[in-house]
Amino acid sequence: MHGEVPPLLVIHGGAGVERAQMTPQIEAQARAALELALRNGHARLKAGKPALDAVTAAIAVLEDDPLFNAGRGAVFTHDGKNELDASIMDGSTLAAGAVAGVHRVRNPILLARAVMERSPHVMMVGAGAEKFAVEQGVKLVDPAYFRTEKRWQDLQKALKEGAAGEKLGSRLAALKHFGTVGAVARDGAGRLAAATSTGGMTDKRYGRVGDSPIVGAGTYANAACAVSGTGWGEFYIRVSAAREICLRMAMLGESAQQAGQTVINDEIPQMGGDGGAIVLGADGSVAMPFNTEGMYRGWIGADGVPHVAIYSGDPLALPEPAR
Ligand code: ASP
Repeated sequence: MHGEVPPLLVIHGGAGVERAQMTPQIEAQARAALELALRNGHARLKAGKPALDAVTAAIAVLEDDPLFNAGRGAVFTHDGKNELDASIMDGSTLAAGAVAGVHRVRNPILLARAVMERSPHVMMVGAGAEKFAVEQGVKLVDPAYFRTEKRWQDLQKALKEGAAGEKLGSRLAALKHFGTVGAVARDGAGRLAAATSTGGMTDKRYGRVGDSPIVGAGTYANAACAVSGTGWGEFYIRVSAAREICLRMAMLGESAQQAGQTVINDEIPQMGGDGGAIVLGADGSVAMPFNTEGMYRGWIGADGVPHVAIYSGDPLALPEPAR
């Protein structure tokens, strides 16, 4: 059953865009990667595949691109490791899968999906999750695969600031490497899905898990709403950000725009956090709230033309809601 409503895919590549760090080359690279992710996901929707396939395909492209803090190019922990987290949720069944703290899984989103579809569980972590990856034929790589020089230097900077006595909280705040990637989609049958993948935050402590793999915090989808977040995960967990947005839409009748604005731009900053999110309603309404200098973001609709933006204030017309 498909072709009843126009399919739609919305993605983000993190809300940690800092103008001072950007070059025309990075901008062009980011735009190309976002467009490729949108096209790959859209191809699934056009072929009548479920929203789940579209978000999985889009995230895998961004995980493979070293520019984003997910998969290859993930940030480093305090101990100089890459620890990856991801989650996925099917809004039409409320099935969900998540992995946290994996070191060797090339595409954590594929493992999160395997947990959802091929295990009786929702979340698996660390060595156990990697054992499950081996059993399921999800590709493992040498941990060195994830390393990029840029992220390594980011960690060195954070460690130096730590040695100079700055508190971890303020260092995390200063190092806004929110390059997490996320996707939400509606397929032709009107089903929604959401997915998120991340390396977490630079200099995070051993075993720290953020919001991205936590269903309800960094990712949520039901029949009416799909959300993926990016930002300072501790705050997203404490306000159950993704589910809070969906609940406000369902219970208070708020639009995607209103609910996204309240949670991302009011509640989280009031507590001291920051970041952004993408929100998709079942009617095709889209919101992309964020409170940083920029958020890599984009969407693609029935016509198959990718629309992307980077900075706050960049023009980006949103799709017209249509059932
Ligand atoms: N939300 C992620 C985390 O806290 C970071 C990000 O969005 O880049 O792990």
